[in-house]
Amino acid sequence: MLIASMKRIALYGGTFDPVHTGHLAVAHGLSKVFELDEVLFIPAYVAPHKRVLKVTPALHRYAMLALATQAEDHFRISTIELDAPERPYTVETLARMQETLGDGTQFFFIMGADSWMEIATWHEWERVLTLSNHIVVARPGYELSVEHVTPVIRKRIVDVRGKDQAALEIEEGDGAKIYVTDAVNMDVSATAIRQAVRGEGDDGWVEDVQPLVADYIRKYRLYKEA
Ligand code: ATP
Repeated sequence: MLIASMKRIALYGGTFDPVHTGHLAVAHGLSKVFELDEVLFIPAYVAPHKRVLKVTPALHRYAMLALATQAEDHFRISTIELDAPERPYTVETLARMQETLGDGTQFFFIMGADSWMEIATWHEWERVLTLSNHIVVARPGYELSVEHVTPVIRKRIVDVRGKDQAALEIEEGDGAKIYVTDAVNMDVSATAIRQAVRGEGDDGWVEDVQPLVADYIRKYRLYKEA
């Protein structure tokens, strides 16, 4: 008898201000390595009083994500955080995803090396790391080590960097794992894009976003003001 394997959904949280080719390369690359059925982009609500740096209104960030992901059937956007701004913590989002999408789904939460190195500052971070599998992706210019997490958590890390990731075997039902991968290693950042758009220099930033996203940024004159 064939045992149907679980549906694999990766949750990809971020500010996406704007979504760029680094995010998309991560989504594409991990889709292959982890045989993902769906990548769910989750733009973060950023409360006005928490905006240390100016963040573009959620509607613009959502619109750019929609333009960038529309052609890819298995890339979708969730408004779970935008619809519930009173509960913006990842731990809440993961718990709610488990409730709504339920059994039969294997969850993976995607984050870059920079987010991973700050994970211990997240609200209920140890619980976050047990609520789903995680995939930590290398990022040029960022350290990717494991010393900042507890020994118990370290035991759940599966470091596949430098290995043949085409042959990666994913366990089902063996507790939440934290996969560390360099299957994608792309030097693109939203901060650099915003700075480049603001500057009077060349248009090199256009290469770092989808063409429709570049058009959108120009049309609505995003990132022009400091
Ligand atoms: P900013 O420069 O504004 O901090 P960002 O480029 O890091 O933005 P975010 O929207 O904050 O983009 O990123 C969402 C998630 O994607 C984070 O976990 C981040 O680490 C990850 N990420 C972003 N860019 C890359 C990249 N080039 N490679 C790997 N992970 C990335």
